[in-house]
Amino acid sequence: MGSISLLEKPHVVLIPFPAQGHINPMLKLAKILHSKGFHITFVNTEFNHRRLLKSRGPDSLKGVESFRFETIPDGLPISDADATQDIPSLCESTTNTCLAPFKDLLARLNDIVSSNVPPVSCIVSDAIMSFTLEAAEELGIPEVLFFTASACGFLAYTQYAKLIEEGYTPLKDASYLTNGYLDTIIANEIPGLEGIRLKDIPTFIRTTNPDEYMVKFVLQETERARRASAVILNTFEELEHDCIKTLSSFLPPVYAIGPLHFLQKQVKDKSLEILGSNLWKEDQHCLEWLDSKEPNSVVYVNFGSITVMTPKQLIEFAWGLANSNQTFLWIIRPDLVTGDNAILPPEFLEATKERSLLADWCPQEKVLSHPSIGGFLTHSGWNSTLESIGSGVPMICWPFFSEQQTNCWFSCTKWGIGMEIDSDVKRDEVEILVKELMIGEKGKEMKEKAMEWKKLAQDSTKYSHGSSYKNLEKLNQLLLSPK
Ligand code: UDP
Repeated sequence: MGSISLLEKPHVVLIPFPAQGHINPMLKLAKILHSKGFHITFVNTEFNHRRLLKSRGPDSLKGVESFRFETIPDGLPISDADATQDIPSLCESTTNTCLAPFKDLLARLNDIVSSNVPPVSCIVSDAIMSFTLEAAEELGIPEVLFFTASACGFLAYTQYAKLIEEGYTPLKDASYLTNGYLDTIIANEIPGLEGIRLKDIPTFIRTTNPDEYMVKFVLQETERARRASAVILNTFEELEHDCIKTLSSFLPPVYAIGPLHFLQKQVKDKSLEILGSNLWKEDQHCLEWLDSKEPNSVVYVNFGSITVMTPKQLIEFAWGLANSNQTFLWIIRPDLVTGDNAILPPEFLEATKERSLLADWCPQEKVLSHPSIGGFLTHSGWNSTLESIGSGVPMICWPFFSEQQTNCWFSCTKWGIGMEIDSDVKRDEVEILVKELMIGEKGKEMKEKAMEWKKLAQDSTKYSHGSSYKNLEKLNQLLLSPK
């Protein structure tokens, strides 16, 4: 872009959905676009802004002259909790309340007298914050929607309308949740999702309520995606070719530009290094502890930022891990377990004290790429899956909700890098699968496969020739061109 003054720069406003798994990839994209010469405004909710200040300190949100943070309210009652907000409530409140403050913010940024930033030239919005399209349309500027989960998950969401039309959902009654009905293979073959069962479709369809809010929300958001100037996905073509192709057949241009954590490594700007997005304070000791372990010897256990489990499930995981005799690093988020009695038995702690480390939250990307990590027991969140793929680490999958079930199905049946644990988790199954992952034949095969995907992920983000790099260049052009 050459050397141009601050006020002449193209200005992208990026707005993530206010949850950890959405803020992380959006911030990475913001840094990448900044390195391409864009002026950046990154919009957090007030709730998350406060949490980021607390977990990372004020410097992490200071930004630089051409990279600034702004906030808007999320519409939920004010709270000083340090816990994940309820996702359906957040979907509803952002949809119903955030457009007005977002438009006010854009008006402030566009006020040449007082703003001291270039006029906003485009918006990159989370695909589940599609109310922002109205603001872009009003200003006559392009808007790109970023769907931060997998292409397979997105494609599965776009099938909701068909599933309703064909009578698969709503379920006739609650017994359909447990009577084997969810094992039904969807007859209507969707290119990319051939052979998928109802249980692998994002979980919001598991309802008997025809007015279920999350179903309506998905229908609305997937329909509105057609209005965007382009859609971005944090995946790579080599991994999800067929799903991306099908999405491209009915959406605006779809650009797969992932894994973003690889592309971001090419951003050389030191001033941005301090900007981070972890809502919990990272325990750095995990890395030192891993340094003391043998290569490929540690099972990493982490269920992400939203999953909750019952105390009983916690105990089953605990004894499964203990009985596997493997070394493990287990991250137990303070709000992971429901109720008050989320206590690990002293006998478990005693039995595993020589070969385990427990922590609240960790720098996951660094942990996963540590040579000591041999396998990952995960909830199959998309960022976790992609970070695992990028580190060549095979997985045991215990999907919790939304499109994690789809990611799990792809990991296990299409990509050859995962084994699923039954949702009704039992310690014996955990023990068997953890052993298989770490010392079994299947574990070895999955490791080899994971290393192949890692190489393809690296190649996709290589400067100038990689598929994701080339897509980033196309996106760059689109963001620079007038609507
Ligand atoms: N993460 C982290 N430390 C932790 C747990 C999670 O840094 O202890 C990060 C992880 O690297 C990923 C994100 O939080 O980028 C979680 O996103 P994901 O899509 O895997 O799951 P979600 O939290 O949305 O369910």
